[in-house]
Amino acid sequence: MSIKAWPDRRLTLPKPPLWQCPRCGHRFVTKNLWHSCVRVSLATHFRGKPPDRKRTFDRWLQAARVCGPTIAYAQKTRITIQARVRFAGAVVRVGHLDATLWLRRRVTHPLLDRVEDFGRIGYVHHFRLTSPGDIDTELKALMCEAHQVGTQELKAAR
Ligand SMILES: [Zn+2]
Repeated sequence: MSIKAWPDRRLTLPKPPLWQCPRCGHRFVTKNLWHSCVRVSLATHFRGKPPDRKRTFDRWLQAARVCGPTIAYAQKTRITIQARVRFAGAVVRVGHLDATLWLRRRVTHPLLDRVEDFGRIGYVHHFRLTSPGDIDTELKALMCEAHQVGTQELKAAR
């Protein structure tokens, strides 16, 4: 058998199904993982905010969906975007959308606001977005890089 015929086991091993919380319906990798366990409508986050916040978020979520299966959950103070695990999110401010990406490495971008360092599990990057056009090709590429983190296909980089 040629070595080429060997399947890449890292990509073909089935992953266990996500656990669904019976109370809020949100899905998680680990059973009984701590979470805020509230059902909030997405619309709540945009009430009283300029329409551009919603348009920008819609584009942000669309950029995530292009990368692969994606679920968005509205929580009390933020919206989370996950594949198997959370990899992106947003907090709707009056003046801008605080859009986040969880990446294994530190990156730079003109709209980067701040970076939270979580050690070996990576960095949460906050981008200050004010209109859908802010989501450029670079951010779209970073979104797909984050989505890979969300599908747990990448090992910890350090
Ligand atoms: Zn719950």
